Amino acid sequence: MSQQKMPKQKPEERVKNFFEVALGFSKEQALLEAKRCLQCKKPFCVEGCPVQINIPAFIKLIAEGKFEEAIKKIKEKNNLPAVCGRVCPQETQCEAVCILNKKKMAINIGSLERFAADHETTTRKITGSNKATKSDKVAVVGSGPAGLTAAADLAKLEYNVTMFESLHLPGGVLMYGIPEFRLPKKIVLQEVEYIKSLGVDFRPNVLIGKTYTIDELFKQGFKAIFVAVGAGLPQFMRIPGENANRVYSANEFLTRMNLMKAYKFPEYATPINIGEKIAVVGAGNVAFDCARVAMRLGKDVTLVYRRSEQEMPARAEEIENAREEGLKFKLLTQPTEILVDDKGFVNGMKCLQMQLGEPDASGRRRPIPIKNSEFILDVDTVIVAIGQNPNPLLYKSTPKLKVNEEGTIWVDENLMTSIPGVFAGGDIITGADTVISAMGAGKKAAAAIDNYLKKVK
Ligand code: FAD
Ligand code: SF4
Repeated sequence: MSQQKMPKQKPEERVKNFFEVALGFSKEQALLEAKRCLQCKKPFCVEGCPVQINIPAFIKLIAEGKFEEAIKKIKEKNNLPAVCGRVCPQETQCEAVCILNKKKMAINIGSLERFAADHETTTRKITGSNKATKSDKVAVVGSGPAGLTAAADLAKLEYNVTMFESLHLPGGVLMYGIPEFRLPKKIVLQEVEYIKSLGVDFRPNVLIGKTYTIDELFKQGFKAIFVAVGAGLPQFMRIPGENANRVYSANEFLTRMNLMKAYKFPEYATPINIGEKIAVVGAGNVAFDCARVAMRLGKDVTLVYRRSEQEMPARAEEIENAREEGLKFKLLTQPTEILVDDKGFVNGMKCLQMQLGEPDASGRRRPIPIKNSEFILDVDTVIVAIGQNPNPLLYKSTPKLKVNEEGTIWVDENLMTSIPGVFAGGDIITGADTVISAMGAGKKAAAAIDNYLKKVK
């Protein structure tokens, strides 16, 4: 049986709109793909999944046409399946270790997960029931995948949960970072609605560390706090000219576009001042998201990366999608200076050609400059997408919170910080990582908080 491929919008059409690129499996495709699964006795795919979904079991249920049961099986381990089916890097996780991957025919596990989740939301309204019977109040700080998962699990354990978020909408990176054409915001809001229906009280526009400190949350009666504030602090290249007009951090660019809907200006009142020729520096998911958003605004976009395609950290599917959409690549290229005109605007980017040497600490081959290879890239806008650091505001206002050298919050094996009753997880303890690993931390933290609260009674 042949491997089923996800249908997509045609590249020449999708590059002009913000609708979802991947259209999802039809019922027939899902059945055919599910029937290819060998139902291995020792399924490696489960070990490859960071939250250990029983993959063969849910695939078997799909193959039998039992879609409701399939999504129930997935939700035993994963509170956000419609999100994970769309954005998990399956090719390095479950699908990488699927036995059929030896013949490059791995089961399309992510597409099947998405199918089961979408089937549920299109056939019925998903609501939970508010069971908050316990008097203990728990605060969750940050509403990204780590915070949402912890809040849902704690609500299911019948705690009284309040989730604080500094932005006006919940979802963290799912809402402000990943663009609509990869993860429709309707999907994120559906998942959030489900979590609210479990009784979680969502408080937007509250910046913990400023509006209230951690100590004040305890004074308000919270017995435990989960800190899931993510890694939203942009890194810059530290090269001359980086303060020029029309140099953006990926964070600012994507937040304006996705959260504030600048691409719908003037319908939405968020302007963005960009030129016509845009360089996006970096090659992770964030860089590809910036590049593909800019292309959808009709701009001429070049992705600048100091290594080769093999070392790109972005999801393989997104690299392929971007290539199909006509993104230009300038590989083995390192920016050294942003040129600025007399009005303070970007007027080109000086770059060096690189070659690859031995692998560095990350295991990827180290880029080495080639002598006398300098050239100028003709661009008028630069978006810097070379990584994010942990958000420092909360720990700066909480001196008792121990912080590691790289700016992540220190936690013990149960995700408890140096302050008893305060737990942390997601990108704030790992640095920029993945949705599923943040969710895994949320799950672990909820269980640890439950244990802690039972002990301190
Ligand atoms: P976040 O999602 O960052 O959420 C943290 C939340 O805390 C935010 O809403 C923030 O506003 C809030 N907050 C911060 N400080 C405070 C405070 N003091 N008080 C109250 N609230 C606060 N991963 C994948 O697996 N696949 C992908 O395709 C993928 N693409 C990505 C694309 C982009 C553009 C980005 C930026 C990341 C991407 N990632 C992807 C990574 C993934 O999204 C993150 O690893 C994940 O969202 C981390 O979850 P989190 O809950 O720890 O933090
Ligand atoms: Fe099915 Fe592949 Fe998992 Fe085996 S490893 S159970 S074939 S998905």
